[in-house]
Amino acid sequence: MNLLALFGYGGNPHALTDLEALTASGAALIDIRYSPKTGIPGLGREALLRRFGTSYTHLPDLGNRNYRGGPIELVDAERGLEALGAWLMIRPCVLLCGCGHKRAGECHRTEVGRLAQERWPGLEVRELGPGGRQAGWCPTGAEAEVRE
Ligand SMILES: [Zn+2]
Repeated sequence: MNLLALFGYGGNPHALTDLEALTASGAALIDIRYSPKTGIPGLGREALLRRFGTSYTHLPDLGNRNYRGGPIELVDAERGLEALGAWLMIRPCVLLCGCGHKRAGECHRTEVGRLAQERWPGLEVRELGPGGRQAGWCPTGAEAEVRE
């Protein structure tokens, strides 16, 4: 099974460049925001769809109903994981949310990663920092610049 990476664009001014590198390496972007909107240009659902085409999908079943606060409550984890599993069979996947790298522990993408790991014990799950380097995985295989 392919790699599952977790990526949050918050606080990363080069997020789109990072996403370009990830898709260029063959990864699919799985948007798991409950509300796939943002004031940041280029990162709303429609813009991502235009830019990345079939490399992008929004998976609202893995969204967090309580994204404004409160305990994490996934819309439909079972159905969402099933859809994610189908993607993972064919491509490495990046779970996309807005919470920045430093807040990854509080973000529902970490919970989804944990559930996926539980379901597929052989699956490799990694949180990616800006540039994809902090986790030791450079998606392009090139020497990407390390950014903080
Ligand atoms: Zn989040």
